[in-house]
Amino acid sequence: MLRSKYAKSVYAAASAGAPHQPEFLQAVHEVFESIEPVLRQNPEFQNQAILERLIEPDRQIIFRVAWTDDRGRVNVNRGWRIEFNNALGPYKGGLRFHLSVNTGIVKFLGFEQIFKNSLTGLWLGGGKGGSDFDPRGRSDGEVMRFCQSFMSELYRHIGATVDVPAGDVGVGEREIGYLFGQYKRLTRDFSGVLTGKKPDFGGSLARPEATGYGLCYLTAEVLRLLKNDSFADKTVAISGSGNVAIFAAEKAAELGAKVLTMSDSGGYIYDPNGVHLGLVKEIKLQRRGRIAEYVKNRAGAKYVANKKAWQVPCDIALPCATQNELVASDARQLVKNGCQIVAEGANMPTAPDAVKILRQNDVIFAPAKAANAGGVAVSALEMAQGAGHLAWDFATVDARLQEIMIDIVGRCLDAAARHDRHNDLAAGANIAGFERVARAMLDQGIV
Ligand code: NDP
Repeated sequence: MLRSKYAKSVYAAASAGAPHQPEFLQAVHEVFESIEPVLRQNPEFQNQAILERLIEPDRQIIFRVAWTDDRGRVNVNRGWRIEFNNALGPYKGGLRFHLSVNTGIVKFLGFEQIFKNSLTGLWLGGGKGGSDFDPRGRSDGEVMRFCQSFMSELYRHIGATVDVPAGDVGVGEREIGYLFGQYKRLTRDFSGVLTGKKPDFGGSLARPEATGYGLCYLTAEVLRLLKNDSFADKTVAISGSGNVAIFAAEKAAELGAKVLTMSDSGGYIYDPNGVHLGLVKEIKLQRRGRIAEYVKNRAGAKYVANKKAWQVPCDIALPCATQNELVASDARQLVKNGCQIVAEGANMPTAPDAVKILRQNDVIFAPAKAANAGGVAVSALEMAQGAGHLAWDFATVDARLQEIMIDIVGRCLDAAARHDRHNDLAAGANIAGFERVARAMLDQGIV
């Protein structure tokens, strides 16, 4: 519930203006709720219309993407790039290719990205983009032609110091490669205009691992500070089996935990002996198959169709699939099973009433803005390497990532403590992320 008159009135205007964008409104409400004490202490934010300016993207680009499939049929999709806020640096945020993409989803992701990028302490603005194109089941040729058509419009809006997209759901190294190839063909400009490239042509080592590893570094630090505990001998439930989920599972196992579950939109696998990551990588990364195939090659494991991994008892839950995938009933189940911490690898995977239940039952909640910022942080390191024409080794990037994640925990706890929300990571993330952007906006005048 919003109490500040200012936040309430801006939220009411946002709701009236975007009635069909529930995910965007959910993200705005959640930020506004946390920052009310900051608004009270800083009347200049209201005088300078900071909230009104924050929720209105700098620009929204929507375009047609026409491409030909392998049967010679012409397909038409829609493309988006929403450049939300560049007070702290060039617009930065991924591209999502998924059937569910629409303006509201891109706006919610772009809005969240502003605060996440701010929390890293780096020079990064916020943006997001994508398409309602579904790459699943498409041949490499079809994905290439789609990416080329998508970039044929996007290229005029992006640039290494302007707007630097990366991957997200449905966009990995293959798609980034095709997008970069077309950008270069159109502009002759070999620059760091996209991150997530392969290391041979301007990418950073440890970028594929960054979001999942970063999630575990942050979780480990939170466990250390708030519970004097660690990953050692813990059981972990993970949802998803994409980029974030796979490398979260890898790092959790490396830190001494046993990963029991992974999933996709069809169901989840449960492996009481600990998920065999070599097998998951072969199925998902090499063959682009379904997680159900795991049980064919792994004795003792089971596949549960159309159900979520949150039924399985665990100490640590890492939702790494999609928004609002962990709802109130899942939260109740996790509490019942003695889960100690939920840390978000995906963007906004925990529904607001589920967060409330976790809080009421003293389950630590680490929000996406903080917990999955490792991906964008290493994207910034990729930009730095590109600008300096240098390639750092894996250990250097990984060490820097770990430092950034630990710093983020410090920023969140400090901001929470300053506003009487001790140990509330979600409030702390919103406050710390907001304060830096709002101050930069004040400093840069009314634009
Ligand atoms: P991938 O495309 O690599 O994997 C997504 C995974 O989530 C797949 O297993 C997919 O299963 C599953 N999934 C997607 N939609 C649904 C759904 N509606 N219900 C159940 N499962 C679903 O994406 P990423 O791993 O890159 O991204 C996962 C999440 O992490 C997203 O929220 C993304 O925004 C966030 N994120 C990603 C970053 C990155 O660096 N890649 C950085 C920060 C956040 P299926 O194949 O069946 O669709």
